[in-house]
Amino acid sequence: MNALIEKAKQIHQLSKEEIISLLNDNSINNELFNAANEIRHKFVGDEIHLRALIEFSNICQRNCFYCGVRAENKNIDRYRLTPDEIIKLADNALKSGYKTIVLQSGEDNYFTAEILADIIKEIKKNDTAITLSIGERTYDEYKILKDSGADRFLLRIETTDKELYKKLHPNMDFENRVRCLKDLKSLGYETGTGCLVGLPGQTVESLADDILFFKELDADMIGLGPLIPHEDTPLKDAKPDGFWLSLKVMAITRLLLPDINIPATTAMETIQPEGRILALESGANVVMPNVTDEFHRSRYEIYPGKKSVDYTKLEEKFKQIGRTVSKNKGFRSQSRPLSLNPSPIGRGTKMARHLRKNLTPQERKLWSILRNKNFYGYKFKRQCPIWKYIVDFVCIEQRLIIEVDGSGHNLNQNKSYDKQRTEYFETRGFTVLRFRNNEIENNIEEVADKILLSLREREGRGGK
Ligand code: SAM
Repeated sequence: MNALIEKAKQIHQLSKEEIISLLNDNSINNELFNAANEIRHKFVGDEIHLRALIEFSNICQRNCFYCGVRAENKNIDRYRLTPDEIIKLADNALKSGYKTIVLQSGEDNYFTAEILADIIKEIKKNDTAITLSIGERTYDEYKILKDSGADRFLLRIETTDKELYKKLHPNMDFENRVRCLKDLKSLGYETGTGCLVGLPGQTVESLADDILFFKELDADMIGLGPLIPHEDTPLKDAKPDGFWLSLKVMAITRLLLPDINIPATTAMETIQPEGRILALESGANVVMPNVTDEFHRSRYEIYPGKKSVDYTKLEEKFKQIGRTVSKNKGFRSQSRPLSLNPSPIGRGTKMARHLRKNLTPQERKLWSILRNKNFYGYKFKRQCPIWKYIVDFVCIEQRLIIEVDGSGHNLNQNKSYDKQRTEYFETRGFTVLRFRNNEIENNIEEVADKILLSLREREGRGGK
């Protein structure tokens, strides 16, 4: 097997040069797609999460060079759904079994945060997750929307090549887009970003930067796809040949961010026959069927020929490739349930039993405050096998691991081992807190405060 693909499979890290080398080498494509498929299976399982997409306004103040709904395109019938129409579409989708509603629009200032918040609250009377994809807003607006119940937000960075970004996005600011993504993360949204592939002037170097940007942001979702030129835009003459490269970017993204959600995007299906299935077999685990009514859907023409989905046929196709439709909301933190723990449980359990009987004094002290749901009602386990490791304490519900440095079983105490171990858990949606023996001995109150803070933060993120 190609050594770089093997490395990415094992440690989920590649340098920029290594990513470039994979992007340039087309002889390894099948191997790369298979590896991404394997990692997808291992980390997020075989379920496909369906997100019902409602395109509620094609009115946009922006002028992105590639986009058919750009403000300067006069050959488009503009529309704006009413709040009641949006809520009705959402209700219908929920009745048909969808667990997530995605509300997408151009950057339409008519929809203030307050108007959107009312719509979100109404939809959230049902048991559903809500994703927003409405473009750039202020921190305060994002906060109003989050407080009203929105769970996720999609905002593609489009390209991390700042010069190219500037050329393609008049009167927009790359730094502001990054600011938006950071705000969204800090507010506890499951944050999605992504890029367009096949932009004129885009290089593989910049695509490698895009992937590293996703990793650095620790994005929870990545939606990417090929550019499909729209005849009423300045990029009308661009070549629509980005499919295979976008599949490669997606596959590498899966290898480096193994537990995130990755949609098989409509652009992939539009530009390539069976593009959606190819994507699902190369790392993707999400599909976003469009539930907007036909009249408005055809007017939300960001690119031509936008493929829609026949849901019934789709489910059949999923079955043919060994996949099922998920029955949960598909948050990143729900990926890879511990009940599917692939670790050698027998070995882990025997060792864990031994460790449980032989707690160090510091572990015992910490356990005395965590045990029996004593700690603000949170349930902790001690010396618990998770995949290939045994962790000192874990609150599975909130995905919080607590490690006591200096414990008897942490034989290999060097920093890189700890780092690797922490990274291993973090890529699977856990937070790892580490405490030293002397902190527990001398300042258990501060330790308790830090644990509580972390649990509350996790809860705020929808850690459950
Ligand atoms: N206005 C919101 C925003 O900017 O995030 C959401 C809507 S925007 C139309 C959704 C995405 O469509 C963009 O992030 C862009 O990557 C993609 N898109 C626009 N024009 C496209 C084209 N011609 N081909 C492929 N994708 C396109």
